[in-house]
Amino acid sequence: MAKIVLKRKIVLWSIVVVFAVLPIIIAFNLKEELQRLSSFFWSLFLIPNIVIMIMYPKWKVIIGTALFFSVLKYVTHFIEEDSFNRIETVALILESFVDGAILFTVSYFVLRHNKLVKYMEKLIIVDSLTGLYNRRYFDLYMEKTIPFHQRINSPLILIMVDIDHFKKINDNYGHLCGDEALKHISDMIKRNVRTSDAYVRFGGEEFAIMLPNTDLGEGQRFAERLRKAVNQSDFTHYNEHIPISISLGVSLYKGENVEGFIEKADKALYKAKENGRNQVVIFSY
Ligand code: GH3
Ligand code: MG
Ligand code: MG
Repeated sequence: MAKIVLKRKIVLWSIVVVFAVLPIIIAFNLKEELQRLSSFFWSLFLIPNIVIMIMYPKWKVIIGTALFFSVLKYVTHFIEEDSFNRIETVALILESFVDGAILFTVSYFVLRHNKLVKYMEKLIIVDSLTGLYNRRYFDLYMEKTIPFHQRINSPLILIMVDIDHFKKINDNYGHLCGDEALKHISDMIKRNVRTSDAYVRFGGEEFAIMLPNTDLGEGQRFAERLRKAVNQSDFTHYNEHIPISISLGVSLYKGENVEGFIEKADKALYKAKENGRNQVVIFSY
């Protein structure tokens, strides 16, 4: 993957260099009778401008490169010209306007497209209520993380978290309070994980936490710390304290597929519920 990206960069930068140098060579070697075509050759500068814009789609870069190539064009033009030709200079300036209009129009649509793609990506992988990543992100994450951990032979932990008696919160205090509880638990998870950990709202009132480079002991300690933090937290609704707790199932990756890995954590979570909730259970065969 990295190789393909590097190859693409080399190709694009080669195009930039070729089309940045070509008009200058042509300008110095253009026969007298072909001088009228010079503004066409200068238009070739549009190519490096557009290629750089595709590589670094930012207005600062686009304006900077446009200015750079304009200066290059005018400096070369005046060095190469023996005498000042008014018509040619006017043609050059007009051509700059046309090229500028083309570059800025193309850039506008490319940048808008990129922004839209980013927004769509966010819509697809982020849960709108909690702001946490969702199940789709979890699948993408696992697709990349599992082979990586297998290769480096490093332990990977998956923790399934489920809010206890969440239905009761909804039933007793209303759906909006239930939503607040989900946000509360999301914040607690965010505050307790390390930056290298990943967490998602797996669905409903269930969350999944992935701890890379973490063994079972550390995973259990983390889960216990989170359980305690939630249990001792002050979740309030209209100034009323509402007791809240979570059950957690912890599993260590042992070479199974993603579904198998989830199933292990789910089984441990189920045990935690069976044993009376508000507790951590480690998966064991
Ligand atoms: P347990 O301790 O066994 O997990 O019991 P529970 O009540 O938490 O579990 P149950 O599966 O019976 O209920 C889950 C509830 O979560 C039911 C569903 O209405 C509610 N729920 C799912 N998604 C949302 C949401 O986005 N907002 C709110 N407010 N409630 C939700
Ligand atoms: Mg549930
Ligand atoms: Mg529940």
